[in-house]
Amino acid sequence: MEVNCEGCAGCCLDWRPLGAPDDREREGRYRALDDTYHLVPLSRDEIRAFVDDGLGDALVPRLFAADGERTTRIDGHDVAAIGDRPAFLVGLRKSTKPVAPFGGDRVWLDACGFLDPDTLRCRIHDTDRYPERCRTYPGHNLELDADTECERVERVHGESGERLRDDTVPADLPPPPLGQGALGSTVFLHPDPDGLGGAVARLVAGESTPEDRAAFVAAAAASAPGTGAVNDDRYERERERVLAADSWVSAADTEWRAAAGGPGESVTDAPDATSVEETRGAPPTDEWDD
Ligand code: SF4
Repeated sequence: MEVNCEGCAGCCLDWRPLGAPDDREREGRYRALDDTYHLVPLSRDEIRAFVDDGLGDALVPRLFAADGERTTRIDGHDVAAIGDRPAFLVGLRKSTKPVAPFGGDRVWLDACGFLDPDTLRCRIHDTDRYPERCRTYPGHNLELDADTECERVERVHGESGERLRDDTVPADLPPPPLGQGALGSTVFLHPDPDGLGGAVARLVAGESTPEDRAAFVAAAAASAPGTGAVNDDRYERERERVLAADSWVSAADTEWRAAAGGPGESVTDAPDATSVEETRGAPPTDEWDD
């Protein structure tokens, strides 16, 4: 699968203010309850590895609104569930950063915590932390005969640069993250629905607390693939580690939030990305391959 991400990063940022043609995460049978655009779902093993690396505070949960019997009601929302246990994903946190994608001027947009806003390159590409979903995303869309993000960007912002260079489905494409067999691997069930009152409302409002996020991240890390089981002891250990995490992603997020304008607003003044992220420990990015 060959893509040209230079000057784009459409997969890594929320470009709805720049004309993203639809919002597929909030359509259909299961609709994201939060307002994050293009959350990258992580596997249980990836979640554990992020927590091991002290990056548990860079992770966020996602729950879904649904209709019908497979729901449970929490904080006034019909949440997709199995029995009374809400189903959720865990993905990478976003921060509002100053970026200039698609050949335009710099604007404030929500972007993946790991995106270098200056170069529009991924800080964890080619590392052990690079999510499988980021590697396979265009291939899964091609397999489903759905537009890739590359094609959506080309449609709205022109085809200069030819972003999708190869439109064949990769032979080594793994199963989609939300397909059959995802329970306990990329889709998790929270073990304590009675303890979630207030947390779901805060997630919907974009006001989740570290404790809210840790309760979901720990449940995912303590899940067993192929089942809804959660190991109680591991849950407690993982929760404490997530709450203790103090990564550069969180520290940078605090500074970006304090400086940010509204979504899509022109950047008139912004702190330097190197000082906000790299001086706090963010890995520098590599040059683009030709
Ligand atoms: S991990 Fe990297 S490639 Fe994936 S969304 Fe974040 S910045 Fe983009």
